[in-house]
Amino acid sequence: MSTEFVLINVRPNGAAAKDVVIRDGRIAEILPYGSRPFAAEIRVVDGEGLLMLPGLVDAHTHLDKTLLGMPWYRNDVGLELIDLIENERRMKRELGIDPARQSAAQIERSVANGTSHIRTHVDIDTEYGLAGLEGVLASRYRYRDIVDIEIVAFPQSGMLIRPGTVDLMEQATRAGADVVGGLDPSGVDRDPKGHLDTIFAMAERHGKPVDIHLHEPDALGVFAIELIVERTKALGMADRVTVSHGFCLGMLADRPLARLGGMMAEAGVHLMTKGGAASPRPPVLDLSDMGVKICSGSDGVRDTWQPFGNADMLDRAAIVSQRNDFINDVHIELALSLCTYGGARTMALQGYGLEPGCDATFLLVRAETPADAVASRPARRSVYRKGIPVAKDGALVAA
Ligand SMILES: [Zn+2]
Repeated sequence: MSTEFVLINVRPNGAAAKDVVIRDGRIAEILPYGSRPFAAEIRVVDGEGLLMLPGLVDAHTHLDKTLLGMPWYRNDVGLELIDLIENERRMKRELGIDPARQSAAQIERSVANGTSHIRTHVDIDTEYGLAGLEGVLASRYRYRDIVDIEIVAFPQSGMLIRPGTVDLMEQATRAGADVVGGLDPSGVDRDPKGHLDTIFAMAERHGKPVDIHLHEPDALGVFAIELIVERTKALGMADRVTVSHGFCLGMLADRPLARLGGMMAEAGVHLMTKGGAASPRPPVLDLSDMGVKICSGSDGVRDTWQPFGNADMLDRAAIVSQRNDFINDVHIELALSLCTYGGARTMALQGYGLEPGCDATFLLVRAETPADAVASRPARRSVYRKGIPVAKDGALVAA
């Protein structure tokens, strides 16, 4: 049986008011508001002139280890990457960070905030094995009707420096991880060629994309990106490789930046930037102009690394805007697009958007324009997934 309704008087991406016909979970037709009467048996939902945005895409987070809903964690950790990594591994046991419970807490928050798609990295290491993956797989299944979740097998504690990790990564890719992750090939693993050859070979064997956390600075980071570009081209993996953070891109003068950005654009190596404080900032506008495909994400939300984050991708668009000195509407809309269409492109989502034929997956907010939504971060009035309301006024709709 076909299910059909009309959402009248909504403004897709800030356009003039429209009536949106939704049939079988997809956008069937978009008509000027009030241009046509609808048959009496068709259900009409009043959109009250609200702004309609496509589902928000959180293309980089860590669902397995958020502390959301747990007691406040007093952070006395050192600032070196390795201190944070080792402290976190210890705290998982001491605090009892349960990946299934914690991922559920963040997923519920994300969906209430209008997020429809999440790419999460999950820790794979020799101490906890696949526990993080198993917990997030359980949550992915539990919430499968309200959100789509893609899982990256992520060697957070290092891969080659901890023998046994490569095997676990292999197991993870067979057990449900969708993407092969990596981490600072030189800075953590001390072997850039070995690290990258291993993860690209694994990705090729399993036909999976690659997403690498790259915090490495200056020339070291540039070298890593060059090696990533080489492998992406050699394996024909355009648009299936993402550099997450890429802090070195925020540390370069104009000419080396143009050279490296050009290489990434040509090879189809995407960039994920969260616009975070206390770290170098890849320049979103310059890189976007060079043709680099960029997405964004929450990264860690209230975890043992840092206490900030709320799994709200409109907030993220504001953070990216402010970190990039974006003040005009065009630039703020670019920041928002990293959290919508940009994430969808990196995750190769099918049926994403607000055109006829797309999934009816969107949110409605009271804002005049997309830039207003980023500046004001209004309450999420309604969140729909495939034509079904999943959240309303910041709370999930009961199943
Ligand atoms: Zn991360």
